[in-house]
Amino acid sequence: MNVFKTVELLQKNLMLIDKNRSIGFVPTMGALHKGHLSIVKKAKKENDLVVVSIFVNPTQFDKADDLKSYPVTIDNDLKLLKETHCDIVFIPAVEDVYPGNVQSSNFDFDGLDKVMEGAFRDGHFDGVGTVVKRLFEIVKPTRAYFGEKDFQQLQIINKMVEKGKIPVQIVPCEIYRENDGLAMSSRNTRLSEAQRKEAPLIHQTLLNVKKIFSEKDIKYIQKMVEDIFKSNTILELEYFEIADTNTLLSTNNKLPNTSYRAFIAVFAGKVRLIDNLALN
Ligand code: AMP
Repeated sequence: MNVFKTVELLQKNLMLIDKNRSIGFVPTMGALHKGHLSIVKKAKKENDLVVVSIFVNPTQFDKADDLKSYPVTIDNDLKLLKETHCDIVFIPAVEDVYPGNVQSSNFDFDGLDKVMEGAFRDGHFDGVGTVVKRLFEIVKPTRAYFGEKDFQQLQIINKMVEKGKIPVQIVPCEIYRENDGLAMSSRNTRLSEAQRKEAPLIHQTLLNVKKIFSEKDIKYIQKMVEDIFKSNTILELEYFEIADTNTLLSTNNKLPNTSYRAFIAVFAGKVRLIDNLALN
């Protein structure tokens, strides 16, 4: 496994690779867990070689505190990636990814960025679009892998690739969960014992929503979820929405021949956890 810390060194190495060999790219912010590794394994199966980037992207954080407390575990990340037979790890510095200004570009994602995570995290998706576009330009992957854990992000990247005619295939990857259903996340390590114990309620709630989705109307489901979290002293609901899988617009009325997904964001103290589930 090769580790490169500058764009120049990475690109020098990539230039030596036969143009016919496919490159699978997995962008991450590090603090890797089994969810990330499941993506690396999938990319490894589907490509001749795999590049993983580790870069905590400052422009996608709307709160300085959240950026500061984002876990950094580079040595362990490298160990895990080596065990997963990753070929290349790219760990650039901020100045290398953002030559000049550390600033986002403005994107038009046809409104996909205005709801849910976009509504609650100012500038988040412009930050994501900026860094992913730059990483695509640097790595020039055949395929790039994104987790459904961040489903809105996945749809936004699809939109960016489609609109910008970027020559890369975006591959969605299923959410990898702990045995009790909690979606794996780098943020889970920041949970206290009591918060960790309570956190599986997030996925359980989504499963209950799925169970009743065909029989109950959406207003009923919305109230049910709000009540579940109102009576919980450890988890605080930020949003729960049932939205069209493609437009991400939330709805109060179920339409025929439309695919829906439930999306949730919850605070456990200062730790923000998100999850989502296909409903039909
Ligand atoms: P992050 O390092 O959190 O930015 O995540 C890097 C990639 O891993 C993103 O595409 C995430 O959606 C994906 N990811 C994170 N956690 C999970 C998970 N539990 N299951 C599947 N994919 C995940």
